[in-house]
Amino acid sequence: MKYTDFALARRKMVQEQLLARGIKDERVLRAMMKVPRHLFLEEGLWSQAYGDFPLPIGEGQTISQPYIVALMTEALRLKGDDKVLEIGTGSGYQAAILAELAERVFSIERISSLAAKARRILDELGYANVLIKVSDGTYGWEEEAPFDGIIVTAGAPEIPKTLLRQLKVGGRLVIPVGNEYSQTLLRIARKESGYKEEDLGGCRFVRLIGDHGWRA
Ligand code: SAH
Repeated sequence: MKYTDFALARRKMVQEQLLARGIKDERVLRAMMKVPRHLFLEEGLWSQAYGDFPLPIGEGQTISQPYIVALMTEALRLKGDDKVLEIGTGSGYQAAILAELAERVFSIERISSLAAKARRILDELGYANVLIKVSDGTYGWEEEAPFDGIIVTAGAPEIPKTLLRQLKVGGRLVIPVGNEYSQTLLRIARKESGYKEEDLGGCRFVRLIGDHGWRA
């Protein structure tokens, strides 16, 4: 496939998978149009990179379906000056999308080989506003808290309280919560007093493994 073919595939993805299903945030649509998703995958998968499905990224993990990436990103309601935390760097694709829309992105991955690969491609693409660390993301990133947005891209058995505490007042946490096979995507907004929870629909993610997640 040529460079122009990938741009065409991205346009088709934005129209048929995102706009058609109700993604409206112009900034999110522009970021999804811009970031070369195929480069976050093995070359053998490039021709499938813009399809309507998740794909393997090694170590038994997956890059989410484009629609889910767009839906979760839109739910964060980023304005451009935000400080965002991602749990589950994986391929680094979601981090690149966030880097287009926020000021600074902090991303945590528990598998060091995935973190290293993500770092390499994010550097190649010039995303200097993404910081990655290898650790158990269920603890959040205390030194950098509080955050305007926190996105968890692995399925949790329940909402980790540690992450709620690292949200700014007015900040949003987007997280899939449920059992191993299916989860509900939740958005939790921190208010002056307490939290407000919204249900964004069903989804299926790999497991969030950690002290405040599933046991390995
Ligand atoms: N956002 C990724 C997809 C992530 S797949 C992308 O755009 O490609 C989920 C990732 O979460 C996997 O890489 C998995 O290793 C990681 N993960 C699972 N539990 C974790 C934890 N407690 N802390 C950090 N990363 C975790």
